[in-house]
Amino acid sequence: MTSANSTPTPHPLSEDSAERLRQALGEVPTGLLVNGSWRETDRFFDVTDPATGDTLAQVADGTADDAAAIFEAAVVAQEKWAATDPRERSEILRRAFDLLHERAETVATVMTAEMGKPYAEAQGEVTYGGEFLRWFAEEAVRISGRYSIAPAGGTRLMTMKQPVGPTYAITPWNFPLAMGTRKIGPALAAGCTIVLKPASATPLTSLLLGQVFLDAGLPDGVLGIITSSSSRAVTAPILGDPRLRKLTFTGSTEVGRSLLEQSAAHVLKTSMELGGNAPFVVCADADLDAAVDGAMTAKMRNIGEACTAANRFLVHADVAEEFGRRLAEKMGALVPGHGLDEATTLGPLIDGDAVAKAQELISDAVDQGAEVASGGQQLGDVGHFHAATVLTGVSQDARILREEVFAPVAPITTFTDDDDAIAAANDTEFGLVSYVYTRDLTRAITFAERLDAGMIGVNQGVVSNPAAPFGGVKQSGLGREGGLEGIEEYLETKYVGLRL
Ligand code: NAP
Repeated sequence: MTSANSTPTPHPLSEDSAERLRQALGEVPTGLLVNGSWRETDRFFDVTDPATGDTLAQVADGTADDAAAIFEAAVVAQEKWAATDPRERSEILRRAFDLLHERAETVATVMTAEMGKPYAEAQGEVTYGGEFLRWFAEEAVRISGRYSIAPAGGTRLMTMKQPVGPTYAITPWNFPLAMGTRKIGPALAAGCTIVLKPASATPLTSLLLGQVFLDAGLPDGVLGIITSSSSRAVTAPILGDPRLRKLTFTGSTEVGRSLLEQSAAHVLKTSMELGGNAPFVVCADADLDAAVDGAMTAKMRNIGEACTAANRFLVHADVAEEFGRRLAEKMGALVPGHGLDEATTLGPLIDGDAVAKAQELISDAVDQGAEVASGGQQLGDVGHFHAATVLTGVSQDARILREEVFAPVAPITTFTDDDDAIAAANDTEFGLVSYVYTRDLTRAITFAERLDAGMIGVNQGVVSNPAAPFGGVKQSGLGREGGLEGIEEYLETKYVGLRL
């Protein structure tokens, strides 16, 4: 694929950064977290740095038997943990929040190395991810029920909230910390024990998080961590155990669908945070400076590898040229390199397949008439870098408008009528988040009401907030994480009828 710009070469990792990384990696436990201690195994798998291809660490390659042992500890710990005073659960979460912040530099360094995001973004994720621990520490002491008199009198109706029970959590590689804390925080607050299976590409941050919880005084067995090169093998014994009561998954819609099928066997309570294909609508009356800044955030947070990433830019024809020019300028100015180097604003993609997929989608769009306004190509020979790319004049039939891009590629299409923009925005099986930029309050509310998504960003390019319910509609998932709703996913409502 040829580009409108010359090809920048990603910076190599500086000696200072390399030393910082070596020290941070020295802090990472590499075993399995079984019943409150780290257990070494005789099988390992490599965790690599997507910017260099170097091996960062070798971690325990858990087996089905290991998974069963970790889950057994969670089952044994469940009753006592559920009976723990809410204040005690809250204090443990709060101590974990404090410890995570004390270790923020180590966690952000390791996260950057295993995932690729620029260090400032990894620091941002430590803050964001940590907030779920603080938020749910505050929620742990606010679990309550209701009391009412039956409409016909006599019987009193009471409800109480109780923990669902042992939970299994599977997380993706793109937010190695926050996707874990978003599940562990509410589960522990509600009184559920939990086994975490992080993605094999980025297990190191989760292992640091496990140590945080051990040091915060979490009782044995309440949190287990299984790392493995075979997700399927370690998931089977846990999903197959009738004592499991809850599955919480963040990842692709394809894998989520298969896990839902497997969950049917024991009618598990499930939370599914799946894929997205977010539209980003810029109306003619939008503040264009704000829209371009918002587009950079919505597109480029996490190098475009976010479920919330703006994947389809729908821009009013009156401002489309100006918007496209300014966005291409900003995208073209990003500096590729290792995320631990200060100058870097564009990290690598997670692997070679991600780069190939971006290239494939760009080629398809160009074949159908799109123009490359910025980027377009793979960068360098080392690591998995891809240029930040803007495509204009993208055909409605281009695959890039249908498939989740998961790369720094911004396809722009135009509209002239709000109804058409809303129809195009909703024309997807996904429904996680939609963004709209307008100065007109009525238009903003109309878009917010009619866009088919679980979350709407009005004049802002990021919606994630621990105090807000995160989640999607349609094939973007089931359930909500964060906000007042988040803890409900880990609670059952029991009704007691009481005749006086
Ligand atoms: P993925 O391939 O679905 O993997 C997610 C997790 O599932 C990983 O831990 C993976 O482990 C595991 N896994 C894969 N196949 C499995 C199987 N057969 N049984 C059990 N576990 C299995 O997704 P990803 O590539 O890591 O993440 C990107 C996707 O996540 C995107 O679609 C993105 O939109 C979505 N996402 C959604 C949200 C949200 O909140 N809605 C947030 C972030 C990301 P291994 O990789 O080790 O096999």
